[in-house]
Amino acid sequence: MRRGPLLALLVAGAVVASSAPSTPSAEASAARRKASSGERQAAKGSGKASSTRTRATARAKRVASERRKQRRKKKRELSRVPNRRTATNMPRGWRWPPSRSMRTAGERCTEALEQAKVPWERSAREGKIVTPLVVSADGASSRELTLGGIVYHSKYRKPPFTMDCHLALALATHGPALQELGVRKVVFGSIFRFTKVRAHGKTKNVLSRHALGLAMDVVSFEDEAGVVHDVLRDYPAGDELLRSVEDALNGSGGFRTVLTPRNDPTSHHDHFHIEADISYYEDERNLAALPRAAAGEADEEHEENAEHEVGAGQATDKSAPAETGLEHGSSR
Ligand SMILES: [Zn+2]
Repeated sequence: MRRGPLLALLVAGAVVASSAPSTPSAEASAARRKASSGERQAAKGSGKASSTRTRATARAKRVASERRKQRRKKKRELSRVPNRRTATNMPRGWRWPPSRSMRTAGERCTEALEQAKVPWERSAREGKIVTPLVVSADGASSRELTLGGIVYHSKYRKPPFTMDCHLALALATHGPALQELGVRKVVFGSIFRFTKVRAHGKTKNVLSRHALGLAMDVVSFEDEAGVVHDVLRDYPAGDELLRSVEDALNGSGGFRTVLTPRNDPTSHHDHFHIEADISYYEDERNLAALPRAAAGEADEEHEENAEHEVGAGQATDKSAPAETGLEHGSSR
């Protein structure tokens, strides 16, 4: 029994010793625990208001970043200048730099042009034109050129009107069919432009075939009586000549489907997009049989600087409206 009070003292001492902080680090961790429990209490206290604020800030940041992204995307989309991401929607078998077979196809084309008695001259490389040339019968300073018996008159731009041989050949070949319909003169907005495709009101990140010199945007056709058939003004009213020209070109086999106010009322309400249809695919297949070194020799050429190409493509007349509906809205 005498041991009782002593034992009680010892037990009490042990309890005190264990509950009291014994080292500085234990003190600090106890303080941290207290502080964090205090924060939890405070959080419980202010509760919803604080977490709502946090969520609102996060949402605002997300919205701002999304808006920045949208603005950048819009800027990219609005720009018609091709960039590294611009895809190519090119003729079958087409590649860049041009393969040997593509250049051979170009040579065959110029021979055919000679046979068709079209006067032409080679011109400097522009954009991604495989066989660049100008049709030169009407003089270097003329705004007009003649192909297949039809006079082509430039509405906005000064010469030279550089195009790919295949466009010149298609227009020379199918000109007589247009003549039969009564067409004598064609007023065009542009041929070569280093731009992206624009169709159905949107700029696509795809290289336009104007950049290949294969397409021509036409604003009006003049008939043998001198009557002007304007795409913007007369096509919606069902102008017979315009409709028959569209059908003739589509049925000729020499052109891709003409873009008109009928199939693209947004971006082609004021002009026809007329484009030579060409495939390099057969040549590619024939080329596969040739020794590899010969087939690959064209690859040694370096791709031209896109910036330079854009500069070269902007050979617009000073009097031309920089961004007319025609220039801006024209496409493919
Ligand atoms: Zn076009």
